[in-house]
Amino acid sequence: MKMDSQMVMDFAQVSKTYGKVKALEDITLNLAKGSSVALVGHNGAGKSTLIKLILGLIKPSSGRVRVFRQEPTSGAFNPLRCKIGYLPEQCLFQKSLTGRETLIFYAQLKGLKAGKFNDSLERVDLAAAADRKVGTYSKGMRQRLGVAQALLGAPELLVLDEPTSGLDPIARQNIYKIIGEEKERGASVLISSHVLTELDDRIDQVAILNKGKLTAMGTIPILRRKVKMKSEIILSAPKLVIEQIEKSVGTPRDCTRKRDGVLSISCDPENKIAILEKIMVFGAGIENIEIQEPSLELVYNAYSNSNIGGAQDV
Ligand code: ATP
Repeated sequence: MKMDSQMVMDFAQVSKTYGKVKALEDITLNLAKGSSVALVGHNGAGKSTLIKLILGLIKPSSGRVRVFRQEPTSGAFNPLRCKIGYLPEQCLFQKSLTGRETLIFYAQLKGLKAGKFNDSLERVDLAAAADRKVGTYSKGMRQRLGVAQALLGAPELLVLDEPTSGLDPIARQNIYKIIGEEKERGASVLISSHVLTELDDRIDQVAILNKGKLTAMGTIPILRRKVKMKSEIILSAPKLVIEQIEKSVGTPRDCTRKRDGVLSISCDPENKIAILEKIMVFGAGIENIEIQEPSLELVYNAYSNSNIGGAQDV
């Protein structure tokens, strides 16, 4: 089978078993240049196993793994390793080195030119602590140093295992800002995360792993549609206007009065615009209108609780 030159990573019918445990089963998944995918799944779903296969730390039991068009456990892959930036789930650094010395150490391992790494440290907000020993760093600071380490050498593929673990809300936002910048530069990004709320609108595609199987892969809107999740239009208006809107749109079961003066209309995403057009007829009578799409968390629950299969819902 030929691998598309735009594909940075390509899994074809990959399975991995550890003794009797089927950690991954028949996974077909790929990642295009400049795009991002979030790997989500319960504990033991197979996320770390998939990452280990990408890094060439283990071999598949069957199927084919290609990263930069090479088999990651082969000798031919060695010169390509420096094109991957990897953030492990737990960053264990030498406590006696400073943040800057740590980056210098990892840069040497990657065969990069020596530098002061001021920009890298500044990017993760560690410039002020650059010359302090890592042993004095907080958990969040060590995590940010881990991100800076992963970004060394402008990698073409970033593999980030729980990148925002232990970070405060501002630092989390900064990590996603950095991920966006890396994508702009052309890097591909694979994130493994349990924090679904922060992935909404921040990643191109989601891959849902369930007991070693890829139950879904696609953009969030496509996954929503596949599980037939409803959009919700919530509007505030005087009682009389609400009654008229209820008559004008949909069936009574689609409309719920949340509280006085607030109406919620549940609809299929593809009917949203048509319903909005009907509502807008009452223009001046409406005080406020909001549209809520089901969160990734709800989409994930729907996939986990249903038998909807079919990866590559793209
Ligand atoms: P978590 O979210 O808890 O990190 P995960 O999705 O990363 O979980 P994996 O670590 O990939 O899951 O594990 C998938 C399955 O494979 C689990 O049942 C795990 O116990 C099993 N497993 C992983 N590594 C080994 C190993 N070296 N030997 C035996 N079983 C293993």
